[in-house]
Amino acid sequence: MSDEQELGITESKQYNTGEWYAEVVQKAGLANYGPEGMSGFIVTRPRAYALWERVQDHLDSEFKRTGVQNAYFPLFIPEQYLEREKDIVEGFDPEVAWVTHAGQEELDERLAVRPTSESIIAPYMSQWVRSHRDLPLRVNQWASVVRWEATETKPFFRTKEFLWQEGHTAHATDESAWEETMMRLDQYAAMYEDLLAIPVLRGAKPEHDKFPGAKKTTTVEALMPDGKSVQAGTSHHLGTSFAEAFDLYYTDEDEDEQVAHTTSWGLSWRALGALIMTHSDDQGLVLPPTVAPEQVVVVPIWQADTQEKVLDYAESIAEELESDGVRVELDDRDERNPGFKFNEWELKGVPVRFEIGPNEVDDEVVTVVHRPDGESKEVPREDIAETVREEFDEVYAKLYATAEENLAENVREADSRADILGTIGQHGGYVKAPWCGDEDCETEIKDQLAAEIVMVPLRDEEAEIHDGEDCAVCGEDAEETAYFAKSY
Ligand code: AMP
Repeated sequence: MSDEQELGITESKQYNTGEWYAEVVQKAGLANYGPEGMSGFIVTRPRAYALWERVQDHLDSEFKRTGVQNAYFPLFIPEQYLEREKDIVEGFDPEVAWVTHAGQEELDERLAVRPTSESIIAPYMSQWVRSHRDLPLRVNQWASVVRWEATETKPFFRTKEFLWQEGHTAHATDESAWEETMMRLDQYAAMYEDLLAIPVLRGAKPEHDKFPGAKKTTTVEALMPDGKSVQAGTSHHLGTSFAEAFDLYYTDEDEDEQVAHTTSWGLSWRALGALIMTHSDDQGLVLPPTVAPEQVVVVPIWQADTQEKVLDYAESIAEELESDGVRVELDDRDERNPGFKFNEWELKGVPVRFEIGPNEVDDEVVTVVHRPDGESKEVPREDIAETVREEFDEVYAKLYATAEENLAENVREADSRADILGTIGQHGGYVKAPWCGDEDCETEIKDQLAAEIVMVPLRDEEAEIHDGEDCAVCGEDAEETAYFAKSY
């Protein structure tokens, strides 16, 4: 087998999405599967970690700009703590990993490996908050959590240990907590739209699918090219349930004791799964320039008699870009031919390629190729650092437009059970249907098609049900508009 074949992606994104995704993740050098006996765990390789760091940098600066401080809490949660909020215990019970021994010694009390940290953060917040002047209190931690997922795992999308951030805030009023919930949801949406070139829908989870203990769970949902939705980040208005369970009270201006209102919000490396799945193709990974570890690769193309002038020219361009802050790679390897290099950098997702041969040197130009669609053009050598940024913007716009088109074309309406099943079965995507609010009606769809209600709209006008509309499934009065979809 030639090097080219070994390197290349063999599965089809369109026909074999699952296998294709697994192949891209491995061949683009993003992740390996965990050791034997640890299915559902992954090893995150430097290329993927670099992507995570870009997500982190973006969100971290947004959080800090809006009053959040980072902190760190223990990996373990004593069982008693977890039990104080009953919904959390019940909700996470099947997924919690427990530590029972230290060496040979059995522990007096078993410790949960955190599946989420409300139960260990809230009791400390309660020590830090005395009066209304201490509110709002906002902390965030960057950490990993463990959830022993029963459903099939998939690198980044669903793993048993995953990297994430979890923000936790306490507020004097319900309104302030709700504003916080929505601000974080908007920051998640903006991260997807401005950094990852993925448009998202904002909505709320139905009552029966809320975060355990939450008053309301809001979500950003991203539609993948295969028609499945990804719950891409969630922001929870927790009401007073955690504050009551963990004694998070404050004194108001009249010195009266009041219970606090809390929120929590989390975004995981599932964002990387959505990123890979959305833009990549049968040649491999495709990344927007905003997050690509190398934004541009310079590939010099020479013969013996032109080697010196081509390499000098290519080097001067790479240096100029680098000193201007562009992430650039000069691929001057002698032992590889240009075709091999093109394939390899395409597989790795470098968004822009510069091809430089003797003609480019003579004409003082650069041939620029866009990774997503192969568009190729000559641009002047002069002001190349400025030009390359325009190319980055163009590539970003192309990626966003494709994803946006996919979303726009794949929100459909249905008004009967058969219509919901038929439409999702045929096209995938979202199907909007009037819904009575009863979980049983979702179950009927789930049982037949593995599609569920991924969200209900947040904005009042969208949620409005006109007089006389009936639930598409049972025919009772409709209360909400449900978005049905298959999901990751
Ligand atoms: P939650 O605390 O359940 O609201 O989770 C916060 C976010 O983490 C979710 O919106 C998902 O995007 C993500 N997430 C949940 N479970 C997993 C998992 N097993 N692997 C990767 N990401 C996850």
